[in-house]
Amino acid sequence: MLQLGNLAIVAAGHKDCSLQIYNEEVTVCVGEGNERKILSCKYNDDNYINKIIAFLNFGTEIEEDSGCLVCKKCGYKQDNDETISAFRKLFPNIETHDIPYYCGACMDNADDDEYELMQKQMKS
Ligand SMILES: [Zn+2]
Repeated sequence: MLQLGNLAIVAAGHKDCSLQIYNEEVTVCVGEGNERKILSCKYNDDNYINKIIAFLNFGTEIEEDSGCLVCKKCGYKQDNDETISAFRKLFPNIETHDIPYYCGACMDNADDDEYELMQKQMKS
């Protein structure tokens, strides 16, 4: 079941909170000034949306799973330690979840242009 509906209800009842859905991406802005926090994820990422709901309801801090590579095409989370450490070496100054990683399936299904772009991004 999609948690997006629950998030909308919780956001509606929360002060200083806005909810935006754009291009399949959900963004929640909460708080004011320096306290302002922006949280976003894919609209169907129930796991993360539940964390946002817990944050809005109870102030539960969200642990960014910076330990995961996230496919920039499909959002697949790669948590294989060897792959992660290989990519971390390539991109030492980028948060792991921001590394331009593409999962095997997306690489396999990419046409030539896409594949070239992916290779280029992974080197840059
Ligand atoms: Zn992918």
